[in-house]
Amino acid sequence: MAVVSNENIGAGEVDLNSLWIKSTEILRGRLDPQIFTAWIKPLSLSKSIDAQGQLRNREFGSFELVAPNKFCRDHITKHYTDIISSALSDVIGSNDVKVSVKSLDLENKPRVSSTPVRPAIEKRQVVRATKTEKQLCVECNLNPNYNFSNFVVGSCNQFAHAVSLKVSEQPGAIYNPLFVYGGVGLGKTHLVNAIGNSARRRGKKVLLVTSEYFVNELIHSVRNNKMPEFKSKFRTLDVLIIDDIQFIIGKERTQEEFFHTFNDLHQKHKQIVITADKLPQEMVGIEERLKSRFSSGLSVDLQTPDFETRVAILSKKAELSGIELTNNVAQFLADRIDTNVRELEGALNRIQEISAQSSSPITLELAESALRMFAKQDRKTFTTDQIQQAVAAFYRVSANDLLGKRRTTNIASARHIAMYLCRILTNKSYPEIGALFGGRDHSTVIHACKTVEDRIKEEPNIKGDLDTIKSKVL
Ligand code: ADP
Ligand code: MG
Repeated sequence: MAVVSNENIGAGEVDLNSLWIKSTEILRGRLDPQIFTAWIKPLSLSKSIDAQGQLRNREFGSFELVAPNKFCRDHITKHYTDIISSALSDVIGSNDVKVSVKSLDLENKPRVSSTPVRPAIEKRQVVRATKTEKQLCVECNLNPNYNFSNFVVGSCNQFAHAVSLKVSEQPGAIYNPLFVYGGVGLGKTHLVNAIGNSARRRGKKVLLVTSEYFVNELIHSVRNNKMPEFKSKFRTLDVLIIDDIQFIIGKERTQEEFFHTFNDLHQKHKQIVITADKLPQEMVGIEERLKSRFSSGLSVDLQTPDFETRVAILSKKAELSGIELTNNVAQFLADRIDTNVRELEGALNRIQEISAQSSSPITLELAESALRMFAKQDRKTFTTDQIQQAVAAFYRVSANDLLGKRRTTNIASARHIAMYLCRILTNKSYPEIGALFGGRDHSTVIHACKTVEDRIKEEPNIKGDLDTIKSKVL
């Protein structure tokens, strides 16, 4: 990727033309060729808002693009200003830029993207300023590909999306904490990354971590006498995003530390965003005082997308990756796959691979036969080993513990779940499963399966845990 630092363009003046050429080179590498040709190539960079024609370092920040027509202007404004801003940022070495788009019809007022201007770069900021968007995302642990612009909105997520947008615009000011919950693969991680990316572009100090990471950092800091560093890392942020908070269930020391981190940030009006698979009140194994903190802001849920939204998601994903997907095929896939977005996306990617390998277009027939093939493969791909690994990781025990003799509640429960999943996800018999769990008798496996089945009836939460583990095995 071409990166031009401040020093490259620093002292003198840079004309817009060469700036745009460098930016389009970056965009060419980041976008699908068809999208690049259709949408980016026809654009030109008309001016920086502050200085027409010529740019000086101090004036970097705000740019106006010209699209050939109104339709193109609207499409670019809706879908590509983030990625264009990021390419311009890379070239000029500024942390953030604002991009507005106007059409050749001059009466149309330029549409301004929601990315605000950052103040002019000062000399002492050069090291930070020369970092690329990607590097900045890495520092915040954000996924640069998850943005609002590529999050498809439907009735299943409309409210969560609207609230998230607001939070990203005014972190700490309105809904604090924001608690986003919902089942696997419904877009929680995507949405909270979009909040983080947007807030970061507004100059906020953002960090996204999984609660697993929080736990590990805490353990590491306690062991190495690094608690002051730990505190300063988490308590000096403008936006702290904790993805999948459910992993702190049962971890008392972590919950205590998180409670203090939470209070500290909250008192300073810093934004906290949390995701989980269920509402705080429904989480077993989390201290009451934390649950009440989690519920003190706004909780929003993500639901399974309806048919229309599934079609829209597929079409959007196809468009962004340059996959030619007819409406027929999109509808066929949306009809067949109604579980979650991750599966929808997975099917589209695999169909695309098959089409590329066989050099044939994605027709209804190809999609149908591909789905049949995946169904067979999926049944085959579950191995007891994968299941044991996924269960061990989920319950934070070692895979050896599952096979060994230890019978602490935690390990015994994880072992039961692993045996149960092996039974329902593989073709193995009870004796075979017993043999794969440290040579246990088949009656032990039957007992384990029965125990889990009873728990599923009695504990509504366990179903979510099983779904999460299954998604990891896939
Ligand atoms: P979760 O965190 O809830 O398990 P993710 O955020 O990881 O789900 O979403 C799974 C995949 O589905 C991701 O690739 C994400 O980009 C995609 N996805 C989910 N919801 C949407 C949406 N509304 N629009 C576009 N993509 C989505
Ligand atoms: Mg997630």
